Amino acid sequence: MRLIGIIGGMSWESTALYYRLMNEKVKERLGGLHSARILLHSVDFHEIEQRQHSGDWNGTAEILAEAATGLKAAGADFLVIATNTMHKVSKEIETASGLPVLHIADPTGAALKKAGARRVGLLGTRFTMEEDFYADRIRTGFGLDVTVPDKTARDAIHRVIYEELCLGKVTDEARRLFGTVIDEMRDGQCDSVILGCTEITMAVDESNSSLPFFDTTELHTAAAVERALQ
Ligand code: GLU
Repeated sequence: MRLIGIIGGMSWESTALYYRLMNEKVKERLGGLHSARILLHSVDFHEIEQRQHSGDWNGTAEILAEAATGLKAAGADFLVIATNTMHKVSKEIETASGLPVLHIADPTGAALKKAGARRVGLLGTRFTMEEDFYADRIRTGFGLDVTVPDKTARDAIHRVIYEELCLGKVTDEARRLFGTVIDEMRDGQCDSVILGCTEITMAVDESNSSLPFFDTTELHTAAAVERALQ
């Protein structure tokens, strides 16, 4: 089994899910007492979040590249960056460490394509929804039409991610917000929705999603385990 290097802590609430899901998936595949071979470098999210919001993306890349280099030196075979947003600097991390990054948008795009999706709604941080680094990879890599919510909804979702979900808080109000935004996407002819932030899985399930949803936390961990077991 290959050794998975996780760059996590963004936030640790979702990284804890990564750890559990990867172990559960290895157990499902191999049975008995088998568990995932994992190295985790968990950062102080405060340092990343401050730099994200001040636009210092080079600063975030430096912190994550240093983590990645350490994971390589410790023997990791490939990298999993346990956040959608920080894939904005995935190339820098890959180049600095010399380790391949299993890009979170790839298993997501592949699952959408396999399900026959055509027009997908993207939910995530403002960075993920408003910049091109994520949607473009889904568009050009998988030929899908990607749309995002309007500005008011984007701001509300961004706030819920940083002020609630990343702190482990899941309120009924947040669940209603996601439900309403997904309903609007369905009315706008989307056939599916990407939970493009690794914490959104905490607040969306079948009961508040009127569209089939594609959970990046689930899909990314499944792809990592596949790769580790290849
Ligand atoms: N975990 C989140 C994501 O998947 C947001 C936190 C971050 O900015 O990394 O985008």
